[in-house]
Amino acid sequence: MHLKTLTLRGFKSFASATTLSLEPGITCVVGPNGSGKSNVVDALAWVMGEQGAKTLRGGKMEDVIFAGTSGRPPLGRAEVSLTIDNADGALPIEYSEVTITRTLFRNGGSEYQINGAQCRLLDIQELLSDSGLGREMHVIVGQGRLDTVLRATPEERRGFIEEAAGVLKHRKRKEKALRKLDSMQGNLVRLGDLTSEIR
Ligand code: ATP
Repeated sequence: MHLKTLTLRGFKSFASATTLSLEPGITCVVGPNGSGKSNVVDALAWVMGEQGAKTLRGGKMEDVIFAGTSGRPPLGRAEVSLTIDNADGALPIEYSEVTITRTLFRNGGSEYQINGAQCRLLDIQELLSDSGLGREMHVIVGQGRLDTVLRATPEERRGFIEEAAGVLKHRKRKEKALRKLDSMQGNLVRLGDLTSEIR
């Protein structure tokens, strides 16, 4: 599995549609200060489901939409598409190539798509979670993030590793199942009480 292309339309400083082709191996993005290198990384995090405006270096989610310049008016929506090569079947979906798209409208509406079909944010998060590209984005190490990891407690560090390894999803499911079991146990006790009252 590798990231093939990233297309930005109206995302932050990328007003016009811009496609970056990523080949297997190392890709470097170079450019002067303020030219939009970090915006590319923000777009990657955003399309993979990032929900924190602060993580995307903004105050509110709407800040990802192109805000206009002296020569160009603001846009009404931001859209990012990420195409992933899935020839090795690392993503649990029957396609050798997967394109996920996220759109945000200035009125607050959002849309998510997998290979052109509308879906929920949860579907994208679930699709990516086993590949280690989880919601917490430990695959993206931002400026200052390294410090956070180095200073983390052993429990927090285990959390990072579990997220990256895709264990967290199963832990969450286990916790949900245990909560259900617990409430079932309560129902059983009540049922027992009622049965003995009837007798
Ligand atoms: P550095 O090397 O200094 O870290 P960089 O290349 O990573 O810089 P970015 O932080 O990606 O640069 O881009 C910053 C630029 O993006 C700024 O010029 C800022 O005005 C612009 N920008 C950010 N959000 C928007 C937006 N919503 N609309 C228009 N431009 C935006």
